[in-house]
Amino acid sequence: MASKSVNIISLGCSKNLVDSERVMQQLRLSGWDVKFESDDPASVVLINTCGFIADAKEESVDTILQALEAKKKGKYGKVIVFGCLTQRYRVALKTELPEVDGIFGVDELPDILARLSTPYDHKNHFQRYQTTPSHYAYLKISEGCNRRCAFCIIPSIRGNLTSQPVETLVKEAEFLSSNGVKELILIAQDLTAYGKDLRLHDPLVHLIKALERVEGIEWIRLHYAYPARFPDGLIRLMAESEKVLPYLDIPFQHASDPILRKMQRGHTATGDKKLIGKLRSQIPGLALRTTLITGFPGETPKDFLLLKEFVEEMRFERLGIFTYSEEEGTPAAGMQDDVPEEVKAARAAEIMAIQETISLENNTGLIGKEITVIIDREEQEMMAGRTQHDSPEVDQEVYISDPGSCKPGDIIQLKVTDAGNFELYGCPA
Ligand code: SF4
Repeated sequence: MASKSVNIISLGCSKNLVDSERVMQQLRLSGWDVKFESDDPASVVLINTCGFIADAKEESVDTILQALEAKKKGKYGKVIVFGCLTQRYRVALKTELPEVDGIFGVDELPDILARLSTPYDHKNHFQRYQTTPSHYAYLKISEGCNRRCAFCIIPSIRGNLTSQPVETLVKEAEFLSSNGVKELILIAQDLTAYGKDLRLHDPLVHLIKALERVEGIEWIRLHYAYPARFPDGLIRLMAESEKVLPYLDIPFQHASDPILRKMQRGHTATGDKKLIGKLRSQIPGLALRTTLITGFPGETPKDFLLLKEFVEEMRFERLGIFTYSEEEGTPAAGMQDDVPEEVKAARAAEIMAIQETISLENNTGLIGKEITVIIDREEQEMMAGRTQHDSPEVDQEVYISDPGSCKPGDIIQLKVTDAGNFELYGCPA
């Protein structure tokens, strides 16, 4: 195996992926041969772990164990792990897995480089080795979270809110755009809290306006806005902007006030409905995405009925659902996890069945209409893309049967010819 060769495995969410891309670029700048999730042998394998919920923790531990097995067989020289799981369980992992060659938490990228005798190039901190298709990239605008939702472990892993300065993010966006990025997907633990730690007026609006000026960026997508105290300036900007997509991801989590209170969310169902009405009336063509949790401690059939009615009434264009998973160290872990797993799952399935009907009705209503689509890839003699209402990985796709008509990265007009529950079909208009 070549010396100074590294394979990176990135687990968990898009926020983790941004950290992986940053460390990969730093290694590349120092002459390392960098591969992403490759099967090739390497002198080092770096695993960016996730410690969010039970399944994610298990996947991270399994990946580390497999890498250690591969190291024994000579495939890897060193196994180094970092990220959320290791931040959370650093001491236990050191004791349980002494064969691991380096254990780092989050925000320790310079220390990882130091372990590899490689200097960290601070002046190029904004650069990334992009692993997403060249036309879209995630932009992590802040780290951490000042809220304390009862079910969430993130603040104790990632700490309080730290916003990236606007100038740094603009430089990063310029770098990404110079690599061909057209769609910037803004992410954070709490997007609408951006800049509370910076001395700026209306910081998120200020940032987005600066990003709109970056040449080559055509679409800006917003993920993980918080429902409480939603900034009016952002609504105005979304209504007027030609680049900010009519798409907003707001995790509401629940719609029963007693549950929202127990979740320590700081918003109410009435306030949420009012906000949704305001967003829909002021932002033309808006698609709302939300995520919800079923089976939070104490969720009664009446609470669940309120959640179902909320989904039926609000008709979210996109929706994801999780069943509650108790996380040690969170306030909710002190509550009795009293909803049986099969009830949590059945409730989640019921919500998804409602959503399936809503989604099919919306999709069917598009047949014969023209929509704007960004092309992501070629797949089985079809091109796969996304509408302005669809984010990569989490939302639906559009399939175009004429692969010669467009290429990845094109933004085209498409006539919708057919629709499924969670997909569209079309041909170039
Ligand atoms: S706002 Fe999100 S990241 Fe912050 S504590 Fe709540 S669920 Fe966790």
